[in-house]
Amino acid sequence: MPDDAPRPDDVPRPEGLAGPDDERREDTASATEPRGLELPWSHGTFPPDTLAARRQVWDALMGLALHEATHALASDDVPVGALVVGPDGRLLGTGRNRREETGDPTAHAEVLALRQAAATLGSWRLEGCTLVVTLEPCVMCAGALLLARVERLVLGAWDPKAGATGSVWDLVRDQRANHAVEVVPGVRADECGQVLRDFFAAQR
Ligand SMILES: [Zn+2]
Repeated sequence: MPDDAPRPDDVPRPEGLAGPDDERREDTASATEPRGLELPWSHGTFPPDTLAARRQVWDALMGLALHEATHALASDDVPVGALVVGPDGRLLGTGRNRREETGDPTAHAEVLALRQAAATLGSWRLEGCTLVVTLEPCVMCAGALLLARVERLVLGAWDPKAGATGSVWDLVRDQRANHAVEVVPGVRADECGQVLRDFFAAQR
């Protein structure tokens, strides 16, 4: 682990986000008040109409997910980071792989981000939401995307060994499922893959 790697506890949680350990927040907000953390693009149409503008937003969001991934290094977890933004582009939840840290086989970045997003919204239904993740989701996480009714998946690097959203399996676009997820692949794929290659190289 690099000495200058930020410790998870050093990173302040953005205001407006529920923590994984938080009790359900006191709901003082009105039903119409937007939930989550405002991001620069939360005011216009989300995602933007033009392809170039969309690409910019996906790149910026993947940058946040990559930043989240680096926090996993503090606990020698495989560096995978994820986040969920709402239909209005607000940040609802973040997560990083914490399997080693917690000893929990289900503590994948996507699952933790989905849980935090659901806590922020106060609902398991994440309709219209986008999940951004640095590595293609596994079978469990692809299943969780379907169960949460996530609208869109933005992914960085493919996982040719265990990916379940287009490489080994494609659960999120399986005709037999009662929900389909739009997949936007290859966003900052080289950087996302490099973080993993560096991690595994250091393990040897
Ligand atoms: Zn997973």
